[in-house]
Amino acid sequence: MAYLTQPDYVKYVCSCGQLKPITSLYFCRHCLKIRCGFCICHEVDSHHCANCLENMPSSEARLKKNRCSSCFDCPSCFHTLSTRATMAAQRQAQDPAGGDAKVENKQTKKMYYLSCFNCRWTSRDVGIPDQSVASGGWPERTNPFLSRYNQLLDYYKAIAQQEKQEKLERERKKFAIRGKYITLTDKTGLTGAMARNIAGLPTSESGSSAAIASFTPSQASAEVDELPDDVYTKDVNLKQITSMSQRLASPEWQPSSVSRLHPLAKLLSIKRSQRCRVCDHNLTKPEYNPGSIKFKIELLAYYHVPEVKIISYETVKPGEKSALLLKLTNPTGHEMQIQLMQPEDLPPVEEREEPKSIEKSLEKSLNLEKDTSSYRAIERVAELGSSSRVTAPEATLTLAQRDDAAEYDDDAQQDTSDFILWRKSNKLALRLEVTTDAAATPGAPARAALALQYSYRNTVPPAPAAPQQAHHTLYTTLLLDLGVVSG
Ligand SMILES: [Zn+2]
Ligand SMILES: [Zn+2]
Ligand SMILES: [Zn+2]
Ligand SMILES: [Zn+2]
Repeated sequence: MAYLTQPDYVKYVCSCGQLKPITSLYFCRHCLKIRCGFCICHEVDSHHCANCLENMPSSEARLKKNRCSSCFDCPSCFHTLSTRATMAAQRQAQDPAGGDAKVENKQTKKMYYLSCFNCRWTSRDVGIPDQSVASGGWPERTNPFLSRYNQLLDYYKAIAQQEKQEKLERERKKFAIRGKYITLTDKTGLTGAMARNIAGLPTSESGSSAAIASFTPSQASAEVDELPDDVYTKDVNLKQITSMSQRLASPEWQPSSVSRLHPLAKLLSIKRSQRCRVCDHNLTKPEYNPGSIKFKIELLAYYHVPEVKIISYETVKPGEKSALLLKLTNPTGHEMQIQLMQPEDLPPVEEREEPKSIEKSLEKSLNLEKDTSSYRAIERVAELGSSSRVTAPEATLTLAQRDDAAEYDDDAQQDTSDFILWRKSNKLALRLEVTTDAAATPGAPARAALALQYSYRNTVPPAPAAPQQAHHTLYTTLLLDLGVVSG
């Protein structure tokens, strides 16, 4: 059984309805809600090459087509290529004015080639000449479809521009009727051209319409080249043909023969920060330095929400009761009160808030809508069909704050209570009972839903305008995977 985090066995219901293990969830300290990758905004913070750790601004990354100019991947196995040096004897050209005495001036010079340590592919295999400098200078192939590609790009840019302007025009009319003044900022995704349009200044619209007018759409043709005559009779040498993934790694050329493989410029990696879509606060923010794996902000659910692990369980049988041993952990630096509940006993979530200000509704219309729809966990659990239920003890469990030094303690405290097996610092083991529906089909997955009510102490300094309370009672629902219903 996977022990560390049990990603497949214990899943939490996110506030958007997704089911995720605790390690894939975030916790917004401002909304006090669990968020997942689907209900947060992902923003690119910085671009860097994972191999040479070169950092670059996004404009430069765009210019370089998100590829590093000095690092390459193997076109055969996609491992990073290494630069190797050899001593090459260079024959200097014979001096034409040197008379009849043949002078051969031999010189050794360091020459460099690219080699894959994984599959032994080298740049010499495909006839790329060795280079005299260790980094850079590798011959670049030009994209044969470059001009068409640029045409398409211009065309779609122009269309997008036009659509944005039309949309904004509609919005402007709508708000002009109401006689309200709108401030338009960068945040609403307005471009300079749109701002000029609103201000009644001439726009560069003529440029975009010209791009649309001069565009020639592609024509489908029924005529294709004939296959070579020997296509069915010629022996196929698989060593000389590229695989599909090798071909698609360079979409511009799609080499069909291994002799046409070319080093692949390494794709850049990004560091991204993640933002809560409801309150706009950062949930994660990495350190800028590409070599650092640390975060400036790291609001992971793993640090804020009680963690539940399955220690063991008895086989689930229809209409019978079985034992379930769970471990609860308080990851926070404050004492936590936990109460186990049935998902249907959770208080209903507050209704969705409609955007109030004009700016907000404009934002909404510009498709920057923030989805605040909260899913009722109980509906989600019902959808997934949990056939078993965990008998939740009435008692409130108190878990001490996290103490890193206590990790080294050997002895756990045995508890005298009926359902607490042991307690140790911020951890607690529970013996619970699972009751399974008599109608559960044997062979079907056995799932049990469980809700937790827990106390949470918010350490965010409250905003001076709106003093927040520091103590909260929060709820979370989780789904335990208990194997399959036995026959
Ligand atoms: Zn939030
Ligand atoms: Zn979510
Ligand atoms: Zn690089
Ligand atoms: Zn390789």
